[in-house]
Amino acid sequence: MPESPYPLLSVADALRVVLTHAAPLAPVQRPLRELAGRVLAEEVVAHAALPPFAAAAKDGYAVVAADGAGWRRLIGEQLAGAVTDVTVVPGAVVRITTGAPLPAGADAVVMIERTVEHDERVQITEAVTAGADVRPVGSDLAVGQTALRSGQCLGPAEVGLLASLGYTAAWVYPAPRVAVLSTGDELREPGDAVGPGQIRDSNRFSLMAAVHEAGGQTIDLGVARDRPGELTARVSAGLHGADVLVTSGGVSMGQLDLLKPLLQMHGTVHFGRVNMKPGKPLTFATIAGKPVFALPGFPVSSLVSFELFVRPALRTMQGDRNWARPRVTVQLEHDIRHDPQRWEYVRAVVRRVDGALFAATTGSQSSGRLLSLVGANALLELPPGTAAVMAGSPVTAMLLAAV
Ligand code: AMP
Ligand code: MG
Repeated sequence: MPESPYPLLSVADALRVVLTHAAPLAPVQRPLRELAGRVLAEEVVAHAALPPFAAAAKDGYAVVAADGAGWRRLIGEQLAGAVTDVTVVPGAVVRITTGAPLPAGADAVVMIERTVEHDERVQITEAVTAGADVRPVGSDLAVGQTALRSGQCLGPAEVGLLASLGYTAAWVYPAPRVAVLSTGDELREPGDAVGPGQIRDSNRFSLMAAVHEAGGQTIDLGVARDRPGELTARVSAGLHGADVLVTSGGVSMGQLDLLKPLLQMHGTVHFGRVNMKPGKPLTFATIAGKPVFALPGFPVSSLVSFELFVRPALRTMQGDRNWARPRVTVQLEHDIRHDPQRWEYVRAVVRRVDGALFAATTGSQSSGRLLSLVGANALLELPPGTAAVMAGSPVTAMLLAAV
């Protein structure tokens, strides 16, 4: 059997190579509505206090706390959104709603549940201390305080904070544009009938879903036949409007595996084999400085190599420094036979039983069997050196989803 001329890199070395070619994209300014999921590319310092005025935390009455319990005169009302000029004096109270500014003279709020109102008089049934149910100026955020740091991922709370500080837009790293191409004469569109020897293209759709999950935008390049001219045309057209190109198929040792020589001709191939299972023929190149991932064709191989190499690159390009999946030690529920030469990434379901984590594989680990990934929430990382791990043994699990 002919040997591939490409040196066999370890997973760790291959990932290092990929990350040296994945730099954060130039930041862009985006409106509030488009910020969810993006990574912040600026430091956000509060230029105003939050809350901007001492505000009632409950519906009730603004009081002078030292008055204690007893009947008081109702002298006015302070609703949220405006400021009344009434001043609370000892023996008097002002009706107040949540979020309204505390009127002058008052130093506490008594919640409505601890009061009885009758005929312009209010009975305070329980004394409060000064400051009770009042949110002081700047108690959430003081002027000059750092609210958000560059590199932080923007979720609902972060977007809300920007809005409350008066931001209408923020500087963020853009979503990388990722062109996705399937290759192979046997591939048909999912909606098309398949003839003898043909199968439906699944990689393009699973990989585009993976790109979205990793925060990228997709450009669908369709299917290219195994013809050097057609492949070259698609690759260069694809790279034109994209930051990254992801292809699948055409990188193993068959006579129509044309991608490696093509990438070598038009760019630089940084590696063409990785010591892992599945995914050994994974190829990584750059063309005009843009990363190109030529993933293996088998559906599971392409998704596992996406997870291990493409996702870290896409997260890095988005300014995310915290892209690593959580790794936990789990106990095997059954024996696993595995490849003694390569790092093997076994699809598994990790579950918690009485506080301990257990893992069972998803059945046959054939690299064509997408069902081995369906429902899996972890990849078990089995190092080379042995051929089996026994039930009860501890192994490392890379968590892809909540346990
Ligand atoms: P290749 O590396 O091109 O020889 O492909 C390896 C295996 O993966 C073959 O069985 C292909 O039919 C299959 N394959 C390649 N590309 C796809 C795809 N886009 N969708 C589903 N299966 C594919
Ligand atoms: Mg092929």
